[in-house]
Amino acid sequence: MPNRVAFYTLGCRLNQSETASLERSFQAQGYRIVDFGASADIVVVNTCTVTERGDADTRRLVNKINRVNPKARIALIGCQAQIQKEQLAKLPNVRFVVGNARKMDLPVILRDVQSTDSDKSAQIIVPAIPRTSFTQAVAGIDRHHTRANLKIQDGCDFFCSFCEIPFARGRARSRVFDNIFTEARVLVEAGHKELVLTGINLGAYRYQQKTILDVLDKLDKIDNLERIRISSIEPTTIPFELIKRMGKTKLCRYLHIPLESGSNSVLKAMRRKYTTQEFADFITRSRRAVPGLCIGTDVMVGFPGESEKCFNETFEYLSNLPVSYFHVFSYSDRTLNKSRTYADKVPHNIIQQRSQALRNLGQQKRRIFMESLLGTRQKVLFEQKKDGLWTGLTDNYVRVKAGSQKNLRNQLLSVSLKQISGQAITGCLAPKLTGTGKKLR
Ligand code: SF4
Repeated sequence: MPNRVAFYTLGCRLNQSETASLERSFQAQGYRIVDFGASADIVVVNTCTVTERGDADTRRLVNKINRVNPKARIALIGCQAQIQKEQLAKLPNVRFVVGNARKMDLPVILRDVQSTDSDKSAQIIVPAIPRTSFTQAVAGIDRHHTRANLKIQDGCDFFCSFCEIPFARGRARSRVFDNIFTEARVLVEAGHKELVLTGINLGAYRYQQKTILDVLDKLDKIDNLERIRISSIEPTTIPFELIKRMGKTKLCRYLHIPLESGSNSVLKAMRRKYTTQEFADFITRSRRAVPGLCIGTDVMVGFPGESEKCFNETFEYLSNLPVSYFHVFSYSDRTLNKSRTYADKVPHNIIQQRSQALRNLGQQKRRIFMESLLGTRQKVLFEQKKDGLWTGLTDNYVRVKAGSQKNLRNQLLSVSLKQISGQAITGCLAPKLTGTGKKLR
């Protein structure tokens, strides 16, 4: 039986979380997980379609797999498989195209489907995505990272005009409440000290009467779990009660809240649910309430109809907004997004110029935030040693480097922050080591 399987994950943290669970399911079926690029019988690519680049990355990866591993059978799963199944099925050596509704069943599909070498055509398995609550049987212990992702939600009902995620991931649905903690305990038992809550629209979590606050409160009680982090969360879905838990519970002083544009007319055309004033008020209030709070955001450049005036408004707005960093994305038409039909597309060269201007501003924001931490002592969860220094993250998402002869992997230690060096701060370990060094299994 072919039993070596390799994985590659494109796109978001939710995809990473699902790949980690899938790896464990394959192991349970007797497969051996090998690194991507090593000789494998099956190569699984968990795809992304949020940008044109995500689509192109899949084709590039398929070509690479065929060069390095010409006999491997390729399974393309996830968001791009959901939306572009026919196109993906035509790529060389692709034997399985599996959408989001069935991708977690891939080991079972492979076991049940008789695919012989004489049958080179791809099996397309892309049924409609159900709207019901879900459970996840296998814990996504992540052997590559000290932090583990914990999926609690999937899908979205918002239908922003630039986004095809509601088509790729289906409508908003939540994980069965108790099932979340079954996985969380396994992850902590395996050595993970930080769990990152993941979903498409996390703040939309609803299971019976439970909300994301209930999830946080119950996670907070798990022994040996040191940190809970929220990944991206939509601005209109964050209860201020959540902010109040930061610094007082295990919830990290960190939020990533997508803004998308600093122009109200663009936000309206995007069908976002807030104004620039409402967004700024929330950020300002939160930063006042939680010292050291890191808030990052996403900005999209070149949405149809984004005039010079709209872009200048965005630049000015971001210059004054107390965010700690931001990511800049270029708009692109997608297969199913509403805005692909909008007029006044912004030329590619203008998008590039605007993106560069914003990226420069983003660098300044990040530096200002890092400077505010110099001279303080922060807890760092160390991940790996690189170029002679251990590196890890503070709870407020700043990369820190420190020297030590000891093995600091997966240790949570106090560090005095001394000096900015590129995208990180170098520091000295506080004399008394306060962490415990449980290894990841
Ligand atoms: S909130 Fe908007 S941008 Fe985010 S996933 Fe939903 S539709 Fe897409």
